[in-house]
Amino acid sequence: MSDMIIVSACLAGQNCKYTGGNNLELHIVRLVEQGKAIPVCPEVLGGLPTPRPACEISGGNGHDVLAGRAKVFNLDGKDVTAEFVAGAKIILEKAIKQHGVKVAILKERSPSCGVNIIYDGTFNSVRKPGQGVLAALLSQYGVKLYSEEDHWELLK
Ligand code: SF4
Repeated sequence: MSDMIIVSACLAGQNCKYTGGNNLELHIVRLVEQGKAIPVCPEVLGGLPTPRPACEISGGNGHDVLAGRAKVFNLDGKDVTAEFVAGAKIILEKAIKQHGVKVAILKERSPSCGVNIIYDGTFNSVRKPGQGVLAALLSQYGVKLYSEEDHWELLK
């Protein structure tokens, strides 16, 4: 088991957010600089460009997407489910299975990274309880998940 954690790359200041910007959190940047955290972006790893149209899960949550019961669409109506699942699986294989990472701090409300909350698929800014695709996959493999809004500093 590894003490290393993974963090959403946008929280570490990488400009991988769908807008082309980031969601910088200085305490997470510090974790990366201290060599304690690895930044990852499942949507970029899955082959999506940056910037890209906003995406939401339609018909369920990340667990439903992984089970084939729901899909991810972008604002233009394109089905991007395959890219979302592919990126999440790359992180599962490299970080979790190969390196034994057991903890992740992920960006809340993202259709990939949301830990407790996602949007409802209508693109009307309506939130609902649920996990994004990466969060769902990691939780299924026993990874302890925190959002940047959780009290993950209890870890230290
Ligand atoms: Fe950040 Fe996750 Fe969205 Fe990538 S997929 S930009 S890491 S919230």
